[in-house]
Amino acid sequence: MFEYAPAPESRSVVDIKPAYGLFIDGKFVDPSDGGSFKSINPATEEVLAEIAEAGSGDVDRAVRAARTAYEKVWGPMPGQDRAKYLFRIARIIQERSRELAVLESLDNGKPIKESRDVDLPLVAAHFFYYAGWADKLPYAGFGPDPQPLGVAAQVIPWNFPLLMLAWKIAPALAAGNTVVLKPAETTPLTALLFAEICQQADLPPGVVNIVTGAGETGRALVEHPGVDKVAFTGSTEVGRAIARSVAGSRKKLTLELGGKAANIVFDDAPIDQAVEGIVNGIFFNQGHVCCAGSRLLVQESVADRVLESLKRRMAQLRLGDPLDKNTDIGAINSAAQLARIKELSDAGAAEGTERWSPPCELPDRGFWFAPTIFTGVTQAHRIAREEIFGPVLSVLTFRTPAEAVEKANNTPYGLSAGIWTDKGSRILWMADRLRAGVVWANTFNKFDPTSPFGGYKESGYGREGGRHGLEAYLNV
Ligand code: NAD
Repeated sequence: MFEYAPAPESRSVVDIKPAYGLFIDGKFVDPSDGGSFKSINPATEEVLAEIAEAGSGDVDRAVRAARTAYEKVWGPMPGQDRAKYLFRIARIIQERSRELAVLESLDNGKPIKESRDVDLPLVAAHFFYYAGWADKLPYAGFGPDPQPLGVAAQVIPWNFPLLMLAWKIAPALAAGNTVVLKPAETTPLTALLFAEICQQADLPPGVVNIVTGAGETGRALVEHPGVDKVAFTGSTEVGRAIARSVAGSRKKLTLELGGKAANIVFDDAPIDQAVEGIVNGIFFNQGHVCCAGSRLLVQESVADRVLESLKRRMAQLRLGDPLDKNTDIGAINSAAQLARIKELSDAGAAEGTERWSPPCELPDRGFWFAPTIFTGVTQAHRIAREEIFGPVLSVLTFRTPAEAVEKANNTPYGLSAGIWTDKGSRILWMADRLRAGVVWANTFNKFDPTSPFGGYKESGYGREGGRHGLEAYLNV
């Protein structure tokens, strides 16, 4: 055995200001009632910055700025000119990607190798991809002259702060809409740096507005009568409340909600690859992934072998400083999320399942949870039904493909699924029957801006990414 030397990424590449205002009409402004909250580093509990809290008057200001920009500048602008701005933003994101990645890891707790190698390349790719569509909308399959909707209200969660921003803002702007976006209250910093990038790109004022705050700010935004479109990514509970609030209005709505995906391993699967896929499926981003493979369905005949390899592999995972380039598992995003993960895991143990984690030293400060698996899980257990949104895997077994399908679909969610098998015909047979928006075969958590992503059932409706992602922002 050898020890890893520390390999910290330097945080000197980011310049965090002590306080941030709201980004409205191209400028950073103070909130009208002066409210604020703190954004902390979940790995150390250190306060990173004081963030302005937008009240309903501020939200109103932002929506008005977006309306004016839509009517006077962005809506009438030819697609090829909108494209130039989007390409410019994409290039600046690439140029400043190290800074954005470090800031994302500081504010979110995710390992730098993920923010650097997964989040940021995908963020830039989304802007490049939708920049390419801006002057080709008549060829997108939505009629000869598809029109934008107007002002989009966008509310995003904390698990992929900048990537969710890109999924929302890039297609909206490409289609000719203007936006007011609210980042999650625990991870506002990269959205605020993105606001600076909009200034750097000379994006016309009011095209992108960023209002920070918690649930009340989000509510004021989605309920504002001046918005034409609401796009939300977050929990099913809040998604339901938003669906109720926009019902009967003219607002178009897309919802990207939770998940409880099955990752299904057949006895003919390449076991070592499948184990890598299981680890990636549930421990990537500390399991704070809506499409995480949080239920492992393994064929009974290979269950012991898979579990033995999985445990051996889990013992190699390195948990700790998110800025260390060798870290596999970073910090849990907030004290509240850690409490939820603990509560559900304790329920799993109390309900009689078997809990296992590798020997793993947790840092004294910050929010941490060791990678954990539960075996002996049945479909009745809470940990098999509820979204944990943490590094916790529930293991179930099956005997036949039909049983695997039945168990995989036995969830109110329907966002994603994974299949591991040697047989192409079985992949197609399974994919036809799985009620999930994305089905990965012999891989997991693969994303590409050209590919639509979204759910069935309580995982929401509407698609983000690809040509389909434009539809959500066009009057079709
Ligand atoms: P959350 O629903 O609590 O919060 C999401 C966002 O909504 C935050 O910005 C929050 O401030 C805001 N918000 C809270 N109450 C609101 C209200 N009443 N009106 C308007 N906005 C409100 O979810 P979370 O805990 O931040 O995120 C985790 C959840 O998000 C998980 O369930 C996860 O599965 C889901 N998620 C889904 C996807 C997807 O693409 N389907 C992606 C990421 C996360």
